Amino acid sequence: MNKPAALLDLSLDELQNLFQSWGEPPYRAKQVWSRLYQKLAASYDEMTELSRALRKKLAQETVIGRLTPRAEQRSSDGQTRKLLFVLPDGAQVESVLMSYERRRTTCISTQAGCAMNCSFCATGQGGFQRNLTSGEIIEQVLFFARELAISNPQSPISNIVFMGMGEPFANYDQVVAAVRRLNDPQGFNLGARRMTVSTVGLVQGIRKLASEDIQINLAVSLHAATDELRNQLVPINKRYPLSEIISAVREYIERTHRRVSFEWALIEGVNDTPEQAHALAQLIKGMLCHVNLIPLNPTSGYPGAASTRERIAAFRSILESANIPNTLRLRRGIDIQAGCGQLRQRVNSPMRNGSVSK
Ligand code: SAH
Repeated sequence: MNKPAALLDLSLDELQNLFQSWGEPPYRAKQVWSRLYQKLAASYDEMTELSRALRKKLAQETVIGRLTPRAEQRSSDGQTRKLLFVLPDGAQVESVLMSYERRRTTCISTQAGCAMNCSFCATGQGGFQRNLTSGEIIEQVLFFARELAISNPQSPISNIVFMGMGEPFANYDQVVAAVRRLNDPQGFNLGARRMTVSTVGLVQGIRKLASEDIQINLAVSLHAATDELRNQLVPINKRYPLSEIISAVREYIERTHRRVSFEWALIEGVNDTPEQAHALAQLIKGMLCHVNLIPLNPTSGYPGAASTRERIAAFRSILESANIPNTLRLRRGIDIQAGCGQLRQRVNSPMRNGSVSK
């Protein structure tokens, strides 16, 4: 473990063990736990039920978390905020808060960078740095939750999507530990049904998640319905081809009875063709599923463009005639590069550095 220990990396048991090693009773650990996750404390000074001596000891031996905000952008309508955080080792992660009428959704990262190398994804274009710890994943949520508790206490975080930087199933254990703590009734207490984990299609992760007792939603980033095209867009498809992904998802549905989402970034002339729509319908017909269509968010490392309205409508009508439920996702924060990995790309590009508000 990193020194000093970050409290947000610890389970309640681990926190109790730490306190026990200091000669403190277990209820003290529970008080700190509730301060961190329910009262959303950002500092030890706020933990007024603890003695001064204990607060001092905590400050000497531990930190709460490790994220420092480095840059922030807000969409012109103010409803989407994107944060770039820096970690002590220089790794950077992005997180987004999207406000809707009745929801506050935070989109968080599970890795600094990503090794999956999807051609159209800004994170993939920037390469992989490292896995995040459970605490580093959780702290992204708490950052926004703490702010909302002050600025808008009636509207706390209502949904969490693991769709920021990184491949969640390439960091499975830390992601699941974070989900459990965010879900814990004594912790952050957000229902697992309000969380969605999105995978590029790592088959072993899909199988493992099916065996967990967590009601989290699963999304699978498909983007192509033939191996030939998917190999180009999502290179990990060469290792886990469509047939394997689909059979793992079928098993997942059989076991959990939960609806799975398939993500599809619509790229003009590439995967928005009638052939791909028919192939997709064929591939997932009869499954308890839903297709999430999202027009491509253009990135500097990929020449593709978002599909036009007409092509989107044609694509959807093919899905509809095959009775495949689908929705077109609003493109949130397109004016602030809120797509995955784009703020980091921009902040770190010297040509454009000046235009980022800090
Ligand atoms: N690695 C995971 C989660 C992170 S990416 C996954 O692959 O699902 C979250 C979603 O954003 C994925 O569906 C991903 O394919 C999509 N995405 C990445 N770059 C995009 C872009 N430029 N435009 C639209 N969607 C994009």
